[in-house]
Amino acid sequence: MAVTSMKSARGRGEPVAPAPAFSPDDIRGDFPILQTTAHGKRLAYLDNAATSQKPQAVIAAMTRYYNSQNANIHRGVYQLSMEATAAYEAARERVRQFINATDSREIVFVRGATEAINLVATSWGGANVRSGDEIILSTLEHHSNIVPWQMLAKRAGAVLRVIPINDAGELCLDEYEKLLNPRTRLVAITHVSNALGTITPVRRMVRMAHAAGALALVDGAQSVPHLPIDVQDIDCDFFVFSGHKICGPTGIGVLYGRQAILQAMPPYQGGGDMIETVTFDKTTYAAAPQRFEAGTPNISGALGLAAALDYVSGIGMDRLAGYEHQLLLYAQEKLSRIKGLKIVGTAAEKAAVISFVLSYAHPHDVGTILDGQGVAIRTGHHCCQPVMDRYGIPATARASLAFYNTREDVDQLVLGLETVKEVFG
Ligand code: PMP
Repeated sequence: MAVTSMKSARGRGEPVAPAPAFSPDDIRGDFPILQTTAHGKRLAYLDNAATSQKPQAVIAAMTRYYNSQNANIHRGVYQLSMEATAAYEAARERVRQFINATDSREIVFVRGATEAINLVATSWGGANVRSGDEIILSTLEHHSNIVPWQMLAKRAGAVLRVIPINDAGELCLDEYEKLLNPRTRLVAITHVSNALGTITPVRRMVRMAHAAGALALVDGAQSVPHLPIDVQDIDCDFFVFSGHKICGPTGIGVLYGRQAILQAMPPYQGGGDMIETVTFDKTTYAAAPQRFEAGTPNISGALGLAAALDYVSGIGMDRLAGYEHQLLLYAQEKLSRIKGLKIVGTAAEKAAVISFVLSYAHPHDVGTILDGQGVAIRTGHHCCQPVMDRYGIPATARASLAFYNTREDVDQLVLGLETVKEVFG
């Protein structure tokens, strides 16, 4: 979808030409894997909520690092090490810009969204959550945003409260309002549901959490790849995401934490690079973010992530989101015409995720038959068993779209589902 705004250029009063419409045909060649086949068929990769594919620019950034920049960081006084340190810290600054944090010291590099949530639950939770305190989650949460809180609740004697969803897969905000109370210490909610695609009203929910005196963590694993993100606008205290879902490498992710809160948190892991001084009697710790980055970090991963953010920014997150929304509407319309197919998750605000069940075939059989047609989708509970329980189903088939997907991919999925119907229908 073209961005057609004719707003003035910032501060200069000049008209801005509308951005040209985005076409995936212009960029599909950037992704080597999209040129490959599966079972001899054109690959229709529709499992982007699990992980995204990587453009050549990301692969090249990582290769360049190992070919010509590789050295450990923050330690060496020699040129290579200083260059690697500068590149790693530049990647941190790139992340800061991308999510509009106020200061790069608010960006902690971690393995991914899962580690970021565990870090907050262990460090902040260990210091701040006491017996009888409450943590609010939602039915939509990925297991990564449930289990660490459960572990904390068990250690601290705290209680988890869960915001229910309606039949469309939207959070029941009136119930959320009722759950908030002076014992609420934290609200941890997903921004986009990986199982249903629901976009949650995080800004409003964070405001409600703060009004009740609680902090708010937003799980952005599924929103960062598909929506423009501004953590100052959301006003959350923590925001987490994984690099691999936004065209970056695996093993790198981000914890954003509001500066004053991060600086007050105790270390998560001990080791090199997170200290000021060490004696056998006593250790003093470095300031955040170094305090939370014990040991040699994933340097090439951070550089790959920065390259990925450059890449998607080059397209423009607004254009990319607009295109994906149009493709979602196209796919939903096509799928809704298939007899016996029911879409699970029909929120008014939805990212490009389509979970569905067929009345005549188990999702795993659907996935296997589609695989034979070159169509890669995900089947199962999507690490969201409470969502499946809510609908009384064990699993769904899930097609999740990215900006490099086309109508051809969707048509290939629909054709594959015709085969499923022939076999089971
Ligand atoms: N939260 C959500 C909403 C997710 O979809 C995922 C990954 N499927 C995660 C958290 C965990 O991400 P990772 O496995 O990259 O740590």
